[in-house]
Amino acid sequence: RIVYVNGEYLPEEEAKVSIFDRGFLMADAVYEVCSVLDGKLLEFEGHIARLHRSLSELKMAEPCSDEELLEIHRELVKRNEVKEGGVYLQVTRGASDRDFVWAKDLKPTLVLFTQAKSIEHSPTATTGIKVIAIEDQRWARRDIKTVQLLFPSLAKMEAKAQGKDDAWLVEDGFVTEGTSNNAWIVTKDGTIVTRDLSTDLLHGITRASVMKYAKEAQMKVEERKFTIEEAQNAAEAFFTSASAFVTPVVEIDGATLGDGTPGPVARRLREIYLAESRARAI
Ligand code: PLP
Repeated sequence: RIVYVNGEYLPEEEAKVSIFDRGFLMADAVYEVCSVLDGKLLEFEGHIARLHRSLSELKMAEPCSDEELLEIHRELVKRNEVKEGGVYLQVTRGASDRDFVWAKDLKPTLVLFTQAKSIEHSPTATTGIKVIAIEDQRWARRDIKTVQLLFPSLAKMEAKAQGKDDAWLVEDGFVTEGTSNNAWIVTKDGTIVTRDLSTDLLHGITRASVMKYAKEAQMKVEERKFTIEEAQNAAEAFFTSASAFVTPVVEIDGATLGDGTPGPVARRLREIYLAESRARAI
């Protein structure tokens, strides 16, 4: 695989980042993942807009222009012949001798690589997934997409250890989001519900698009908190993320939803999302 590091395209074995990089020593870094379908980028503008916001919230320097970022994404997709999968991008504050205080003139580290993966026909789209509930122990600025992914990794490992697929994180009795996705339910009267935006959760790019398309399709959407108990008694549940689009959830913390198969709303939203984002891919 060819990867990108600070201005160079290199075979992955030859790519190097300093051991003093603050991304490595202090998780002082932000990232984005942009999906690829038919060799084209989905929701590129949304991901880049969120990258700018993450960088600005952490007072980190911009690594390069948006045009250059697009060019690097496209070049990697081309060189690695990715038809379906994703492009991972990470910006760190840069490298300097280890210190909590950083120098203002650090040069950001920019790394990108591709991952080939099937998304459109992923088996979970037809089977749905099972989630457990876990207390959310992440830091309080989950709206910034940092590489501090230890807690979500532990939560996902716990789900796997219990024979399930993922975890929904719970704070003060309400679901914040999934380990790497936004959580949704469909009430028995057909209203689509997902948590309102705040610093408690990541402002998902897929979440925003799905919400827009659902409203355009005359579906009723509510942005509010919900509990695990409400989710267990909902008609349907699903999650959204760039790397899994809309994926049905069929079991929540031991309770099976409906007949245990993906519901019609989740299936319809997945189809709409696929068609719309494919039509807008660049
Ligand atoms: N929430 C968290 C914690 C995530 O890590 C992600 C994606 O990585 C999402 C939500 C979904 O965001 P997006 O739709 O932009 O991929």
